[in-house]
Amino acid sequence: MIRWIGFFAVTCALSMMGCASRSMRTQEQLALNPPGVVAAAHPLAAETGVEILEAGGNAIDAAVATAFALNVVEPFASGIGGGGFLLYYDAVTGKVSVRDFREKAPADLSPHHYRVKGVSESSTMHSGGMAVAVPGMARGLLAMHAEHGRLSRERVLGPAIKHAESGFEVSPTLAGILASKADLLKKDKTASSIFLVDGGAPYKPGDILVQRDLSATLRAIAIQGESAVYGPDMAHHIADAVRVRGGILKASDITGYSFVDREPVPGSYRGYDLVTIGPPSSGGLTLLMTLSVLDRFDVQKMSPEDPVYLALFAEAFAAAQTACDRVVADPSFAGTGTQTSKLLSDAWIDRTVADIRSRLGNALAGAPVAGRAEIAKVSSDLSRFPGNTTHFSVIDADGNMVALTQTINYWFGSGVVVPGTGIVLNNEMYDFSFEEGSVNLPEPGKRPRSSISPLIILQDGKPVAAIGTPGGRRIPSALAQIVVRCIDFDQDLQSAIDAPRVHINGSDHVFSHESRIPTETIRKVAGILGEEWSFRERNAMDAYFGGAQGIWLGRDSDKPVSVYGGADPRRDGAVARVGH
Ligand code: GLU
Repeated sequence: MIRWIGFFAVTCALSMMGCASRSMRTQEQLALNPPGVVAAAHPLAAETGVEILEAGGNAIDAAVATAFALNVVEPFASGIGGGGFLLYYDAVTGKVSVRDFREKAPADLSPHHYRVKGVSESSTMHSGGMAVAVPGMARGLLAMHAEHGRLSRERVLGPAIKHAESGFEVSPTLAGILASKADLLKKDKTASSIFLVDGGAPYKPGDILVQRDLSATLRAIAIQGESAVYGPDMAHHIADAVRVRGGILKASDITGYSFVDREPVPGSYRGYDLVTIGPPSSGGLTLLMTLSVLDRFDVQKMSPEDPVYLALFAEAFAAAQTACDRVVADPSFAGTGTQTSKLLSDAWIDRTVADIRSRLGNALAGAPVAGRAEIAKVSSDLSRFPGNTTHFSVIDADGNMVALTQTINYWFGSGVVVPGTGIVLNNEMYDFSFEEGSVNLPEPGKRPRSSISPLIILQDGKPVAAIGTPGGRRIPSALAQIVVRCIDFDQDLQSAIDAPRVHINGSDHVFSHESRIPTETIRKVAGILGEEWSFRERNAMDAYFGGAQGIWLGRDSDKPVSVYGGADPRRDGAVARVGH
């Protein structure tokens, strides 16, 4: 049970910076309709969050319950064997806080474990034991629950335990991912015994997937707390499983793991206050920088499929992504902290806007656009279930909001499952760069650079939205497009999530897009951007572009304020509402 004085003390202790200057202020009490919403990548996870809200839990109770439920119903995407980033808006203090429970490289890592020549040399860190970084989820989230939760740990973990023990119906998405990852799962006896029928064929849609070992692990966590994962016994057991698969993780890496509470990164767009996370993720900065550039253009006068807007978006995103790639890495390691402070500066924005105006000037002034482009089609078979990671958003009756993105990196992470536990270990080591000179080279104890960027939006100190998405480097591009659609093009959140998406890879000028955007439009975009750009058409609705889940509050002054949820059809996204 939370007590306000204790709560304030904990908040101050965690916040470290800025606490003294921040006064405790009570926000005007919001009346919300419905009084609580959870949007997650699986219906059972969203319903779990709402069950906890209806049982009297707050947004943190619901978030922790949803996070562990997602471990069960999306065992391929996130869980105890991985990490993530949590953004929390506290309606009483008006403060947004960041918990980084990102995985860390093992202490025994040294350069002879990988070769620094180019991306292909990093394959040892793609799967198997060397891919595994020290997981952070259970320690990070259980501490969050202990600090802010209202309900008992047993109550909050109850639904996840039930889904693991009784099983749940395999969706076409899960069946497709199991089929596409069967080879990885077959390399690990424990993984294949859980996720393949009798160790052989993948489960089919409609089958029931039971995870008894995971239910026992979750039950132990409910009773003992984080020591069920980070205590010496389990730490040795996890380290042994990794070493058997060729890795170097030690028990002391696990017992010594620490999460970090970081300062949130603020930005703004058209008068809204945006808050996201900073390094070791480059996603939040890329998102804010892209929007800061777009803020200087009359995007509202364009339309979402106007070739001029799409070209402008491509230029703004490419500039932001390229700038971030050069300098963002774990801020505890040399050199990166000081350089990132220049990224979101007025000087960078001015320079980038001037550069874009000089290159796109004619098109921005309305000159006719010549349409020309070779558009490569990316095979839909290969891209059927691309992606990784999961995101969910929560709001409770008091207006507290959580945006949480958690991951084991690629589908089924490293493919290593800890025997007897159901814990699928991440392959987050693959998020390091292996190119000479990169700030994101692997080092012992370092967190690999991420693209994760949960986002909270406020206006005049009042909550507006909590949103996020998986999708690796597509995370900031997907979020920027959703924000522009909601704010500039006045779309509701669900329409903005459903709408066709593009993604930009700035370093090699690749413009990828869903096939719902007409070819004629893409040809005009190509005509504006010029010959160095190439174009890739993907499926009409492609999980390559993420799986966004969010909540958005009504903009009218009605009381109670309407709360809308948005869930991504590119995954099994679902919105659950209190009282429905
Ligand atoms: N490992 C990825 C990252 O941190 C996970 C995010 C994602 O791919 O969706 O960027």
